[in-house]
Amino acid sequence: MSEIGRDLVAWYRAAHRDLPWRRTRDPWRILVAEIMLQQTRVQAVLPYYERFLARFPTPAALAEASPQEALAHWAGLGYYGRARHLQKAARRISAAGAFPADFDAIRGLPGVGDYTAAAVASIAFGLPYPVVDGNVLRVVARISNDPGDIASASTRKRFATVAGSWLDVSDPGTFNQALMELGATVCLPREPNCLLCPVAAHCAARAAGTQQELPVKLRRARAERLEHTLLRIERNGALLMWQQNDPAQRMYGFWELPYREQLPAARPGRLVGEFRHTITHHHYRFRVMTATVRETPEGFRWLTPEERQILPVSTIARKALGAVRRTAARS
Ligand code: SF4
Repeated sequence: MSEIGRDLVAWYRAAHRDLPWRRTRDPWRILVAEIMLQQTRVQAVLPYYERFLARFPTPAALAEASPQEALAHWAGLGYYGRARHLQKAARRISAAGAFPADFDAIRGLPGVGDYTAAAVASIAFGLPYPVVDGNVLRVVARISNDPGDIASASTRKRFATVAGSWLDVSDPGTFNQALMELGATVCLPREPNCLLCPVAAHCAARAAGTQQELPVKLRRARAERLEHTLLRIERNGALLMWQQNDPAQRMYGFWELPYREQLPAARPGRLVGEFRHTITHHHYRFRVMTATVRETPEGFRWLTPEERQILPVSTIARKALGAVRRTAARS
């Protein structure tokens, strides 16, 4: 094993955070964790992880569930395409009769990219594939003092080769988790804690004093600001809502409040809430207005409070109703 690998693994064994997906080698539990962690912070994933696995402890359990139920157990985690892909993966694993045990087969599951495949292959099956996520790219850039642009595929490939050269082939899963843990808890984006770092002696950026300048990322998506008005239309305690039924849409299967432009014939009332919502570089400002309609518009349904508890309601709709409650409480 490389000296970096040895120091990193020794530190990880002594100091890592105790997280539920680190207490298992079950590939299903690891896959669920990695998919949940793809765009969501550890603290936000924790309450969902155990609840999701309590309901879907095996791929077969998720494969047999309705898409509505799968989405309802994911509601609040965001990026719902992940839940749909996970269910497709569960169906494929369930149909095959066993979880795939080689990298290419894991990589071939819906919603699984190089990073997730390497994590599952190394942690569950001990296969020697380095994981390369944002944390790892940062750590590699700093230890190597490499100013390559991590937005470019060639830099990411080079960094993956470097991480692979440090890999502990006798226990690649622990090594990979150690490298990610270092990026998540010590080698932080703005303020790397070099004094506590177990690989400080090997770090070229620390020696050169360039750690704050790395990694270099040149292409950044420009922030976009968007505004929308949602309508809160109530009848006998039920709310008028619609279900996203376009499989290409991120919120496929979820129930939404109507957008103003969907119901030009609705008669708008007063402003009852405002909130902001950000998805990657899109910054939305939503206004919520009361409104009335003469007839139930085509494609819409009246959902009672009980139905809204059971059916998957989108994050935006839930945020809108929360904003309305807060406005009402203030007035
Ligand atoms: S010494 Fe500092 S910059 Fe280098 S890997 Fe450790 S925390 Fe990161």
